[in-house]
Amino acid sequence: MRVHVADHPLVTHKLTVLRDKATSSPTFRALTGELVTLLAYEATRSVRVEPVDIETPVAPTTGLAISDPKPLVVPILRAGLGMLEGMVTLMPSAEVGFLGMVRNEETLEPAIYAERLPDDLSNRQCFVLDPMLATGGSLLAAIEYLFDRGAVDVTAVCLIASPEGLATVEKATEGRNVTIVLGALDERLNEVGYIVPGLGDAGDRLYGTAS
Ligand code: URA
Repeated sequence: MRVHVADHPLVTHKLTVLRDKATSSPTFRALTGELVTLLAYEATRSVRVEPVDIETPVAPTTGLAISDPKPLVVPILRAGLGMLEGMVTLMPSAEVGFLGMVRNEETLEPAIYAERLPDDLSNRQCFVLDPMLATGGSLLAAIEYLFDRGAVDVTAVCLIASPEGLATVEKATEGRNVTIVLGALDERLNEVGYIVPGLGDAGDRLYGTAS
């Protein structure tokens, strides 16, 4: 598994405002979009392209175009939805699928409760959006689901990860083509599964349902 932690002052600056509990939901949403666009630049470094012949007003030349099948962007509901706009801003020709994940309260395992993906994922590059890589359970379930459906490589874009969650995903995806792009790698998980220092509940902060 490849891990890339953004090392850029603008990313850290925007994350600092996101982390601040005084930041309002509208600002949080806007900044999330900007951050994801910055992270998407790194996340799409290996997007598959092919040569294309064009003519400029001056001369013929050969450039690059994103190959078919187009990359698939998969936000994990609910909080991943707040990252979608920032991602497709950078890669508008990508297709978009949706995965809704919930924790089964009996088994405590993550389960998929909603799925809207193209029927055929064979040979697809997938970009999963999930702001907080905390225990790693739901991200791992999503990654495994995409590979089971035929995806060939999966890149996850997360705003913040815990070392524990990152290690869990790394161990379970050994030998797979997985890349994780992060805005920051934080200190730890606390006893109730929140990332420390983190930013709290990303879904609540995005959609204004924090108490
Ligand atoms: N999910 C969140 O939204 N925040 C955390 O800190 C952990 C999981």
